[in-house]
Amino acid sequence: ERESPLLEVTDMIVGYGRIRALHGVSLRVERGELVTLLGANGAGKSTTMRALSGLLPLTAGRIVFDGRDITRMKAHERVKLGVVQAPEGRGVFPGMTVQENLDMGCYARKFESKQAYTERLDWVFDLFPRLAERRTQVGGTMSGGEQQMLAIGRALMARPRLLMLDEPSMGLAPMVIQQIFRIISEINAQGTTILLVEQNAQQALSRTDRAYILETGEVTKTGTGAALLADPAVKHAYLGVG
Ligand code: ATP
Repeated sequence: ERESPLLEVTDMIVGYGRIRALHGVSLRVERGELVTLLGANGAGKSTTMRALSGLLPLTAGRIVFDGRDITRMKAHERVKLGVVQAPEGRGVFPGMTVQENLDMGCYARKFESKQAYTERLDWVFDLFPRLAERRTQVGGTMSGGEQQMLAIGRALMARPRLLMLDEPSMGLAPMVIQQIFRIISEINAQGTTILLVEQNAQQALSRTDRAYILETGEVTKTGTGAALLADPAVKHAYLGVG
């Protein structure tokens, strides 16, 4: 028998008051996958993330995580199950140090022992040596790229089973974007399942297992990263080619 996907979203409808932002989105993420949600401004990417995190209610549809219906579960309870969204880059606590920011990540999902905490922290510092060097620096004084690393590091401290990243490359210089994507691949390669929202199609598609293209609140195309990278319509719309 086939194992159920880690995340399965069926016909998700979400709106803001009377404005409907998602018109029946369905997608799945298998265990161990890196899946990308690609779309232009206003396509509904952030709305999808917020709904999955439990920050926006569904008008209709179903979210199943690890075989369990979480459609109506509160955000903090989803975090306890391991559904963790990293705050956007500027979402770090600006007045707190790097260390304090990372510790906030474990707040919702506590460690069973001091040793487990230390091991996790060491792992995050291995992934992001820059954070280790800057443990005592306050978040607000760090560069955009460093703040993005801190935001991801903080989410990792919650030991996500599904890590959700909303446009981690936004506003960063090309060199830093490369670096962030490399680390995202590394985190995935080390076993964390990731759902990534991106506008940076080239970088995201070249590293993702599968992707969904979202247009005005609907999934219009899905396939492997490689297939979508080679798709003429995708090239034209998202890669500025042809
Ligand atoms: P971006 O990359 O620009 O953030 P997105 O793909 O994440 O775009 P969403 O932010 O999810 O898109 O927006 C989807 C639709 O929902 C848009 O039409 C947007 O105007 C609308 N929307 C988003 N947030 C709100 C809100 N708080 N109130 C009303 N409408 C909203």
